[in-house]
Amino acid sequence: MARYTEADCRQCRRENQKLFLKGDRCYSQKCALTRRAKIPGQQWAGRKKVTEYGSQLREKQKTKRAYGLQEKQFHKYYLKADSMKGITGTNMLVMLEERLDNVVYRMGMAECRRDARQLVSHNHFTVNGKRVNIPSYQVKAGDVIDVVEGSRKIEKFAKLTGADAAVVALPSWLSRETGSLKGVVTKLPERSDIDFDVQEHLIVELYSK
Ligand code: SF4
Repeated sequence: MARYTEADCRQCRRENQKLFLKGDRCYSQKCALTRRAKIPGQQWAGRKKVTEYGSQLREKQKTKRAYGLQEKQFHKYYLKADSMKGITGTNMLVMLEERLDNVVYRMGMAECRRDARQLVSHNHFTVNGKRVNIPSYQVKAGDVIDVVEGSRKIEKFAKLTGADAAVVALPSWLSRETGSLKGVVTKLPERSDIDFDVQEHLIVELYSK
């Protein structure tokens, strides 16, 4: 996953929103946003009026950070979304959700998107029986995502198949039985399936200036 020099938790604090960049820690009391919500370096931010540009920029930054993309990659999603039929912001979010690394994360087979991206890049997954090591691969309805045979003993995957495998709440467009390393994209996501708190029209407004 693209690297930011800023510490993960600092990014969440900057956006004042949980971006779930650190796996289990994000769901615990150790989460920095739970302990210390103040935006780093902006103790007087509450007194400042946020400009229109500022709001647009923040929405873009937090989305880019949540999906772990750099500006160039992220902007390409906007350009593609803009050339498609429908609502540009929705198209963009849906395409981000359909990335293979995001699907692996959403299926609960990786702790966070960065982890998922690394696992995909290291050739641990197949899509419809063929190895795919491209994190940005766009899944399609009906795609079957599986862990390659030789990788199933890796601790990260073994713990997903044991008797104490955690039950993962999946979005409605994905399915994976608890204890299985195989998941299915039952349908492509719609905007209502994406629980990320973002006003995507502000990103579109920013880019279309
Ligand atoms: Fe963000 Fe996770 Fe750090 Fe919480 S623990 S601030 S959600 S990266």
